[in-house]
Amino acid sequence: MKTIGLIGGMSWESSLEYYRIINEEVKQRLGGFHSAKCLMYSVDFAEIEVLQHRGEWEKLAWILSQAAVRLEAGGADFLVLCTNTMHKVAPQIEAAVNIPLLHIADPTAERIKARGFMTVGLLGTRFTMEEDFYRGRLEKKHGLKALVPDQADRELVHHVIYYELCDGQLQEESRRKFSAVIEKLAAAGAQGVILGCTEIGLLVKEKDSVLPIFDTTVIHAEAAVEYALK
Ligand code: GLU
Repeated sequence: MKTIGLIGGMSWESSLEYYRIINEEVKQRLGGFHSAKCLMYSVDFAEIEVLQHRGEWEKLAWILSQAAVRLEAGGADFLVLCTNTMHKVAPQIEAAVNIPLLHIADPTAERIKARGFMTVGLLGTRFTMEEDFYRGRLEKKHGLKALVPDQADRELVHHVIYYELCDGQLQEESRRKFSAVIEKLAAAGAQGVILGCTEIGLLVKEKDSVLPIFDTTVIHAEAAVEYALK
């Protein structure tokens, strides 16, 4: 079994999910007392969030690259960055180490294609929904079309992620609003919806969505186990 190097803390609420799912998946596959070999470098999200909203991505790239270097030195065989948004600096992280990074968008796209879908909705932070690093990868590398909500709904989703989900709050009203956003994506032609932020799955479950959901936390964690056991 390979040792998984998790770059976490963005937020710790979702990193907990990664740790749980990875261990459950290893137990399910190997049985008995088996559990995952892993290391986690968990950052202080307050520092990260400030830099994100100031647009200081080079500083963020440096912080996460240092985390990656430490995980590699600690014995990690590959890296899992436990946030969609910070994949904006995935190229810098990859350049800082000699071990591979399992990009969150790749196993997600594979699951979507395995269902036979070509057009999906994408929910995430403003950075994830609006910039090219994520949608571009889905489109150019995987041939998928990613639809995002309109401006007002993107603001809503971004706000709930930072001010509720990353703060450990799950509010019924926000769940209803997310369901309504997903209905609009379905009306626009989406065949499924990517929960492209690692906290959204805490709030939105299959029953809350008119579309099949692709929860990046679950998919990424399961892909990490698949790779670790390969
Ligand atoms: N966990 C979130 C994501 O998957 C948002 C927090 C962050 O900005 O890293 O994008």
